[in-house]
Amino acid sequence: MVKRYADDERFSLGLRDGEKYINGLKNDGRSVFIDGEKVDDVTVHPAFYQAVRSIANLYDISSNPANRELMTFKSPNTDLPVNKIWMVPKSKEDLEERRAAIECWAEATFGLMGRTPDHVAGFFVGWAAGLDVFDRNINMRRSKNLLNFFNYLRDYDLFITYTIVPPQVDRSKPMHGQNPSDLYAGVIDECDDGVIIHGAQMLGTATALSDYLCLSQITPLKKGDENHAVNVVVACNAPGVRIYSRRSYAAAASSVYDYPLSSRFDETDSLVVFDKVFIPWEQVFVYKDLEICRDQWWDTGAHAFGNHQAQIRLCVKLKLLMGLAKRVVQMNGIENIPSVQTLLGDMASYAAMLEGLLDAQIATCTSNSDGVVEPGRQALYASIVLQTEAYPKMLDWIRELCGGGIIQLPSSAQDLLNPNIRADIDRYIQSPDYSGEERVKLMKLIWDLVGSEFAGRHEQYEKFYAGPPFVVKSRMYKEYDFEKSEYLVDSALSGYNLKGRL
Ligand SMILES: Cc1cc2nc3c(=O)[nH]c(=O)nc-3n(C[C@H](O)[C@H](O)[C@H](O)COP(=O)(O)OP(=O)(O)OC[C@H]3O[C@@H](n4cnc5c(N)ncnc54)[C@H](O)[C@@H]3O)c2cc1C
Repeated sequence: MVKRYADDERFSLGLRDGEKYINGLKNDGRSVFIDGEKVDDVTVHPAFYQAVRSIANLYDISSNPANRELMTFKSPNTDLPVNKIWMVPKSKEDLEERRAAIECWAEATFGLMGRTPDHVAGFFVGWAAGLDVFDRNINMRRSKNLLNFFNYLRDYDLFITYTIVPPQVDRSKPMHGQNPSDLYAGVIDECDDGVIIHGAQMLGTATALSDYLCLSQITPLKKGDENHAVNVVVACNAPGVRIYSRRSYAAAASSVYDYPLSSRFDETDSLVVFDKVFIPWEQVFVYKDLEICRDQWWDTGAHAFGNHQAQIRLCVKLKLLMGLAKRVVQMNGIENIPSVQTLLGDMASYAAMLEGLLDAQIATCTSNSDGVVEPGRQALYASIVLQTEAYPKMLDWIRELCGGGIIQLPSSAQDLLNPNIRADIDRYIQSPDYSGEERVKLMKLIWDLVGSEFAGRHEQYEKFYAGPPFVVKSRMYKEYDFEKSEYLVDSALSGYNLKGRL
């Protein structure tokens, strides 16, 4: 008998701390695979150990009584304090409070984990604030399921990730046109209790570390794709769910000193296979409905809230980048050169633009008919478009500032621990105010952000996490307020004719 979420004894009501989060994952029977083997326990496996601790640290922060005001609000259902990532904002002030809580978490990972529990929580906040969309099919109203599950996630302080894009097999064909037709995850059967899902989704970031997984489609669907037009949730340890992790950068890191970011913040990304997975009806929010499957992203605040979180996180990461750029020019004695300051100015302008667009998302917030306040979409999509271009540029600029210094580094911490080698490091790899060990430490940190495999994955992430650039730009096109522009064009055209100025 498959467990339903309400009686999953791994979890209990109330705020979780890190230990409770880890205990919920420990030996929970999930099927995670890496390097040709099934992982017995993600909480102790070297590929996931440190990332699990980084997420646990977030739960320690939010459950710490000293952070109660910053990180929590009262659940309308239980009256208990719950994580602010689940707050449905009713005012600009609420939106600002949510931002502060998300920012606090982002600072704990330096913005280097994209799918921390607040990311998909944002999508659920948007869905919970747009329930009418899930009732649009009057024969299959599902808003109650959505709301119940949202309340469960919030009141049990759970971690949910998502897979909303199918694998790249043949993009020239619709989902149902793949060979075989159940290649992409979708419904293959239904019974009295629920539905059976079969097929795969491309990438679930942090799915190996989360409690639940949401399966839906954000990719435009075509007539005939109805089996894929779903939104369902499943426990990550449900029978038939197989999580195939990409290569682990954490496990490959020789030490925390050598790879300070890869070793601690590698959230991992996985192909997720659903092998005839049973989903109870109460975990089904959209069922074989092309319109609702599309509208859930755009007619609710889901996409806006989820991506607003991503922008808060990004701004923290950019501040880290700026700090590193400043530190390296100080260390190398080039800080006062005008052209170096110009380059730092270029970098700062991007960081400031994205920060400004984040402020603008709150300043231009809008409220829906239920009084729910969501971030301004024009500023949001402008920042997503800008980020796909700004982030690679910023990495390039910091590389330019670092020169060969990020390459001329001891092979590993072991060199520094060997007194014979260390003497040369201390003498030749140093700067006026930095010992050899300090200089190497800073440069290795920068390398892990700009040049390591972890860094390369981050560059890909910032370009694609919100969709490919051509999709993000077409969303910007839809959200831009052309009305005033068109008025100005008409006004300009009406000021003159063939005879001259009117
Ligand atoms: C690091 C990382 C983490 C991710 N994590 C998650 C996650 O947690 N959950 C999740 O669901 N997804 C995740 N994704 C997947 C992400 O959502 C997709 O990568 C993104 O939506 C783009 O889809 P795609 O990769 O299939 O690219 P495609 O849609 O295949 O596009 C690739 C390129 O092909 C070209 N192209 C394709 N179609 C067209 C077209 N119609 N018109 C013009 N050009 C076209 C463009 O150049 C485009 O950039 C992640 C991706 C990355 C890189």
